[in-house]
Amino acid sequence: MRDETKCLHSGYTPKNGEPRVMPIVQSTTYVFDSTERIGELFDMPTAHMYSRFSNPTVEVVEKKIADLEGGVGAMCTSAGQAASMISIMNLCKSGDSFVSTSTIYGGTVNLFAVTLKKFGVECIFVDADASEEELMAAIKPNTKAVFGETLANPALAVLDIEKLAKVAHANNIPLIIDNTFATPILCKPFDFGADIVVHSTSKYMDGHALQIGGVIVDSGKFDWTNGKFPEFTEPDESYHGVVYTRDFGAAAYIVKARMQLMRDLGCYPAANSAFLLNLGLETLPIRMKQYCENGLKVAKYFKENDKIESVSYAALEGDKYYELAKKYLPDGVCGVVTIVMKGGKKAALQFMNGLKLASNEVHVADIRTCVLHPASATHRQLTDEQLVAAGINPGLIRFSVGLENVEDILEDIKQSLDKVEI
Ligand SMILES: *Cc1c(COP(=O)(O)O)cnc(C)c1O
Repeated sequence: MRDETKCLHSGYTPKNGEPRVMPIVQSTTYVFDSTERIGELFDMPTAHMYSRFSNPTVEVVEKKIADLEGGVGAMCTSAGQAASMISIMNLCKSGDSFVSTSTIYGGTVNLFAVTLKKFGVECIFVDADASEEELMAAIKPNTKAVFGETLANPALAVLDIEKLAKVAHANNIPLIIDNTFATPILCKPFDFGADIVVHSTSKYMDGHALQIGGVIVDSGKFDWTNGKFPEFTEPDESYHGVVYTRDFGAAAYIVKARMQLMRDLGCYPAANSAFLLNLGLETLPIRMKQYCENGLKVAKYFKENDKIESVSYAALEGDKYYELAKKYLPDGVCGVVTIVMKGGKKAALQFMNGLKLASNEVHVADIRTCVLHPASATHRQLTDEQLVAAGINPGLIRFSVGLENVEDILEDIKQSLDKVEI
């Protein structure tokens, strides 16, 4: 099946007389006819036992997203943040480190630099545009993973995934990619060597600003038996001696994430949320196509306006990431356009406050056009140095182009820009 078909059919095939759409299975638990059967399930989780870590409605979405990314399995989480956290905690324990590019979502910077540090896990930040040699030099003997974002939020830098995969694999560690902005419709990181993909499904996948969510997808390709990951190859005493690589083969990573971390943390989405997420996924391919079309028109409009200092949109010829975008995002680079206003923060805020159709909100990648000033919102907690490293200028605006008629979006931009004094 191709993506459009997968979005409609993957994950659920109703049998004779069953509902056309997977129902919302609103139940914390499941009934079995014997204690022996429950005992067997604890040995081999082949059925749903408890909705803290699996549920039939959520499973449909997990299978659909795994299929779209080309992975062997997926696990949904109650937020993108939980997906990023579990993706790392499934590999690192206290005393370990991992490498991350610095041009990533502000919330992830905070999670990695502050919260994981409190757990004794060190994040080594690197410049995504650094050479292979420089990246190699950042990796230490206790480094267990490399992390990056396909399309960095909000700098819109395109990641050279193959370069990072090469560096990670030369060190026998996996590459984790946050593919939120691209979605599997625009880029499939596994095709370029990534081993694990995470998403905030709160953005384009849900698409309608309905519910927060995340997902982790396992490519099934990484060799966990290479000696660096004893937790995968030695018995897990917290789970009556399971050996993940022996018992679950290619799905070792995602099963371990569910049976250890989701079991203990419980940040699993509700069935109702997964049902809504599934609705969003059904139309993802056609929506992404339109976002890319609208995004490019808006980016071009900004580019020609003399009140705008710079536009970051990798599908624009001349953009710093144009060549990388041609390789990794040949069908378009989503609907998020980043601009820097002349006149800095003051002009940026004046432009944003003057918009009538586009709304000011803490969101991005929504079906409705919205804008955000990262330096005073999502990235507020970062120091000036971190802001620069994350590619954020005080006059920078993240303009998330929606699916309104693009002429209405352009007219709104025009009327507000006309009023900005520089
Ligand atoms: C929003 C976002 C996250 C965090 O996801 P939540 O669902 O808000 O927890 C992570 N990565 C990227 C790229 C994001 O845009």
